[in-house]
Amino acid sequence: MRHIVIHYQEIALKGKNRPLFVNKLRDNLKYATEGLGVKHARDQGGRIILDLVPDAREELVRERVSKVFGIANFAFACKASNDVEVLKEAVLRHVRDKVFKSFRISTKRGYKEYPMTSMDVDRIVGAHIKEATGAKVDLTHPELTLFIEILSKEAFFYTEKIPGQGGLPVGTSGKVVCLLSGGIDSPVAALRMMKRGCSVLFVHFHAYPYQSKMSQEKVGDLVEILNQYQRASKLYLIPFGDIQKEIVLNAPAKYRVVLYRRMMIRIAEAIARKEKALALITGDSLGQVSSQTLENITTIENASTLPVLRPLIGMDKSEIMDQARGIGTYEISIIPDQDCCQLFIPKNPAVKTSIEEIEKVEKGFDIEKLLNQYLLLK
Ligand code: ATP
Ligand code: MG
Repeated sequence: MRHIVIHYQEIALKGKNRPLFVNKLRDNLKYATEGLGVKHARDQGGRIILDLVPDAREELVRERVSKVFGIANFAFACKASNDVEVLKEAVLRHVRDKVFKSFRISTKRGYKEYPMTSMDVDRIVGAHIKEATGAKVDLTHPELTLFIEILSKEAFFYTEKIPGQGGLPVGTSGKVVCLLSGGIDSPVAALRMMKRGCSVLFVHFHAYPYQSKMSQEKVGDLVEILNQYQRASKLYLIPFGDIQKEIVLNAPAKYRVVLYRRMMIRIAEAIARKEKALALITGDSLGQVSSQTLENITTIENASTLPVLRPLIGMDKSEIMDQARGIGTYEISIIPDQDCCQLFIPKNPAVKTSIEEIEKVEKGFDIEKLLNQYLLLK
């Protein structure tokens, strides 16, 4: 029977956070691998151990585990007794069919009362392998590294360490609402907050029937990819065309984009309150477009009493694009669509607005009435 030994990120493990962190991670791992042959997920000696059934779907398990946040690294491992005499035979059986001229043993103990030091175990198992295979010990550039982990009632060993995503387990930092546009940036912003332990729900504003349904289909596909990194979550699709019409009819053209954004933020905040989410997320990056100057960011943020988080604020477009490719959202994001903000877009949008200026403009239409139309959310 095979096992997966999972090392979590140590940094978050101070004091009272530890049980919360570890339990969440274990739950997330169980959820991510459901139906794939993981019998138990247990917390043991500072690791999480997944016990697999003999016909577990290892490739899929590997793929799913590699998308769970909070993991430093993981490995498919064999189990043996932690009695060093039994262990060394088991390790030898395991490496018998491998071809290697040099090797190294790297032992760690998750059970500090173990009667031997890690170096003792390295030496005893190492000598046994050397004698039986003729391979030499090389501590700096070995062809094969054999990792051994000693726990209180068992030992695990493996040869391949797979890097994890790092970050914090989703759910340890609370819930947030991401304004998801269908572009390249906002899916990356959502993922960055998941990586910091947030569970993310999504709001998309579309201008159907004034525009096509494409943007809604795109965000549906984006959410599906993003949800591979968290539990399935909700996507709110909000018709925004009528609000835009109202803005177009009642405000000077140059303010449209900022006014659209302020309405989006208000609706997203109402959804966040209903869902008990603690913050909003956008994919803004400073200076990328006219609505993303510090002045306009300030004016837009002012429409919300919840914090608006912008994890991409200091990133270049090329960096954001690289991350989007890594996540797998890039190919969907670049499919041409009709973003609602392209509807009635002015030639020269205001680059530097102030709160006073915008509040004056907003007196020209009935914000409460507009909002109430959209807040009859189920
Ligand atoms: P993105 O690539 O995420 O679309 P962008 O660089 O195109 O970002 P904007 O279109 O100005 O920039 O949007 C800035 C942010 O506002 C987006 O990242 C997103 O969080 C939010 N946003 C914009 N349009 C919408 C929309 N139609 N629905 C939901 N959120 C939106
Ligand atoms: Mg966009």
